[in-house]
Order: sequence, then C-alpha cells, then structure tokens
Amino acid sequence: MASTEGEERAVYPGSFDPITNGHMDIIRRGAKLFPRILVAVLENPKKATLLSTEERVAIIRDIFKDQPHIEVEAFHGLLTDFTRVRGARAVIRGLRAISDFEYELQMALMNQQLNPDLETLFMMPSARYTFLSSSLVKEVFALGGSVHELVPPIVEQKLREKFASNPESLSS
Ligand code: ADP
Repeated sequence: MASTEGEERAVYPGSFDPITNGHMDIIRRGAKLFPRILVAVLENPKKATLLSTEERVAIIRDIFKDQPHIEVEAFHGLLTDFTRVRGARAVIRGLRAISDFEYELQMALMNQQLNPDLETLFMMPSARYTFLSSSLVKEVFALGGSVHELVPPIVEQKLREKFASNPESLSS
C-alpha cells in the first residue's frame, strides 16, 4: 500500500465516549474528501467520561487497524494548537440537528479567531444516525436495550465489560 505520509489530513475531534456508528459515518464521509483523517480524542480532565482516554483511543485504533489513512491520537488543550502542530488545515464536525448548530457555530468561530487559516467543515450523517449520540447509547445500554445497530461490535463488547464490572458506571 502507498504511504500516506505528507498528504493532506483533516482532524476530526471529539470525546468519542464511545464512538458510535454516527461518528463512523462522518469519518467515512470525511475520508472521501481528504487523503487522511486524524481522529483526535479529547482528553478533558473536567469532563467525566465512561471510558478513559486510553480506552477510547485503543477502541478507535482497533476499528481502523486495517485503514492506515485513518489515524487516531489523544489531544488536550486548544484544538487550534493541536491542528497547527499536526499540520492540518481543516477540522471536520458532524451536524445532526439544528440543536447542534449553535454550539458548533460558536466553536468554529472561536477557532477561526484563534487561527484564521483553519477551516471547519460540517458534515451531515446519514438520516438514520441523526438521532444517535454517545450519551443515548450509554443510557439505552444501561437500561437493557440493544445497541447492536448503533455502535461497532468492539464498543458493544466494551460496554458489556464495563457494565459487568460496575453496573453503576453507565448510569452517570
Ligand atoms: P463532543 O464532546 O466534541 O461533542 P462527540 O464525540 O459527542 O464530542 O462528537 C464529536 C463530533 O461528532 C461532533 O461534531 C458531533 O456533533 C459529531 N457527532 C456525534 N454524533 C454524531 C452522529 N450521530 N452523527 C453525526 N455527527 C455526530
């Protein structure tokens, strides 16, 4: 396989706690536009997550282990600093509904202010994923519902493990 080193990459940042089929859909769409996608897993000490940063990174790396053009890394601090260091000129975000728009616009404009050379691209997922969020997946799973169609198999497995070791962990 040809090396993808040196080719344009877009950063797709998020919490991915856990990654869902909605995120997967956005990554697939982004990969049609950019030779490389760097999935940037936010490490935010202020935000309690079900999965540790290491777990979230390991899961996404495993999912894309046969696709070297999808890279995965943890990041903390300013997204504009991370993209600058990684040489990315574009950030991808997913828009599900009007309710996402206000926050996303605010973030995009702030990032534009911090780095005018960085562009944010919004992508719509397939309509069947517009209702999907990581928090809803955790809630449904904790209540005994099936998330089989909503997340990659490795995520379903991880949720089972977490729930088995600590049933309370999913209800926060
Ligand atoms: P954050 O905490 O940064 O919002 P998320 O992991 O929840 O992190 O989301 C990362 C990005 O993916 C955001 O742009 C979010 O709008 C988008 N996203 C989340 N779920 C979906 C989905 N089902 N379809 C499309 N985009 C999504």
